[in-house]
Order: sequence, then structure tokens, then C-alpha cells
Amino acid sequence: MKKKPCIICVAITGSVPRKSDNPNIPISISEQVESTQEAFEAGATIVHCHVRNEDESVSSDPARFEQLKIGIKKYCPGMVIQFSTGGRSGKGKERGGMLSICPDMASLTVGSNNFPTRVYQNSPKLIDWLASEMIKYGVQPEIEAFDLSHIFQAASMYSEGKLVGKPYIQFVMGVKNAMPVDREVFEFYVKTVNRILPNANWCGAGIGRHQRTVNEWCIELGGHTRTGMEDNIRMDRNNLASSNASLVNLTKDICEKYGRPVATWKKTRELLGIPIHLLS
Ligand code: ZN
Repeated sequence: MKKKPCIICVAITGSVPRKSDNPNIPISISEQVESTQEAFEAGATIVHCHVRNEDESVSSDPARFEQLKIGIKKYCPGMVIQFSTGGRSGKGKERGGMLSICPDMASLTVGSNNFPTRVYQNSPKLIDWLASEMIKYGVQPEIEAFDLSHIFQAASMYSEGKLVGKPYIQFVMGVKNAMPVDREVFEFYVKTVNRILPNANWCGAGIGRHQRTVNEWCIELGGHTRTGMEDNIRMDRNNLASSNASLVNLTKDICEKYGRPVATWKKTRELLGIPIHLLS
């Protein structure tokens, strides 16, 4: 029997790594578009996007997001474009200022937790506002589950109609001071999603040296997965990643090991329930 295709998401830039950490990290819009195109050609079909200023500092400027979207649509036709509404890119409603540009998806964290040096604060009011903006602009959320309670929170938001569409839940593991990379917890996350959100797709992201471990667990257990330089800048202990595409290739190798075909962009949109936005 043919196994279920695996969607590979590439998180190209993030808000933490700098050129001084890895000179290959794409920062400018043109570098980001080029890096996304390479990753798309390697097999990634979702791109998770943050934008930066020229000096590499984080930005939440909707104009930059728009430029990036235009470039990706041109060079990666069909790829699912996902913007980050994460807390490192802006404050309060700034985090959702680019939703009106109508990306296919946006990340959404539905609870708070600790980050390496601070509290990752997501108040119920801000979460509800971001969710309502996503409904308004037809943007599908990717729920970032940093904790078990976030899966339950997402389920109740779907049942209350505060979130719509096919749920896509991402387990994030390995952020310092948040949930570690733990196999039993991971399996319990999968079991819980299957129980309380039976129509959901799920995926996982591991941070730093744990990226490949989480990729492997996702692929082995039938989920989807995320790679890219936002989460990890290394190929292995001794070598920096030369590109986002090189990390996508590592993930593809794991898919091959477990007999999972890599989802095409068409299959990805079918699995996620995201049509092509013809007019945006
Ligand atoms: Zn991100």
C-alpha cells in the first residue's frame, strides 16, 4: 500500500539567526525569494516567512511581506505561503498587520509559554483578534503547539467557530524553557490531536540539533514536518547548512527511508484544503 505523502515546510529565515551565525541565511527579500525557490525545487511546498530590515533586525512591515509574497508567487508557483504572526516580529496587533495581504496561511500560537530569555506572551484577547483577522482575510491558521494545553485551546476555538477550515497543528519542541524533545510526549500529542481534532493534519518542528529527530518522528508516525534555517542552521555538528534546500534534502532522505512520498504543491493544497488564491 502506498504511504501518505509528507508535506515539507521550509522556515527560511525566522527572527533569530544572523549572518554572523551562518552567512547563508537569507535576509533580504531577494535572498529570501532565491532561497525559497531552491527549497521549492528540492521539494518543500510550504514556506514559513518572517521579514527583516536591511540591518537584519526583525520587521513586521506589511510592505516587506507583500514584496516577499509577490516574489515567491512568481518563482514558486503553487507553493503555500505562510506568514508568521509570532511574537518575535512585533508587538500586539503589529503581529497581524500583514494578514490583509492574504497569505495562504499564517502561524498562530493560542497560548503563552516561556522562551529562552522571556515570556512568549499571547493573551486571549490578542489570540482572538488574530484568529478573527484570519477568518476575515481567508487565511488558514497553522496552530503552533508549544504545550499540550495549546492543542486543547485550538480544539475549543474550532468548536466555537473562532477558527475555521481544516486544522493544521504543529508541535514545536526543543525551544529552551518550553517543551523539550520527548518521544512519549510527542506520541501523546499525536494521540490527542487524533482524539479531539480528528479531521486535523499535524506536523512537527524541532529546534537546533533536534530538527532531524523531530523530522524523523513526524515522518515515521505519518505526519508532516518542518525544516529550514529558522530552526536550525547546521547540517550536522561540524558543518553549517549551505542553504535551506540542503536541509530540505536531508528531510527528503528521511521520507525515502520510511517510504513516504514527498507531497507535491497540488497534493499539499489538497491535504490542507487550501485552494489557489487566483486573485491575490
Ligand atoms: Zn517562525
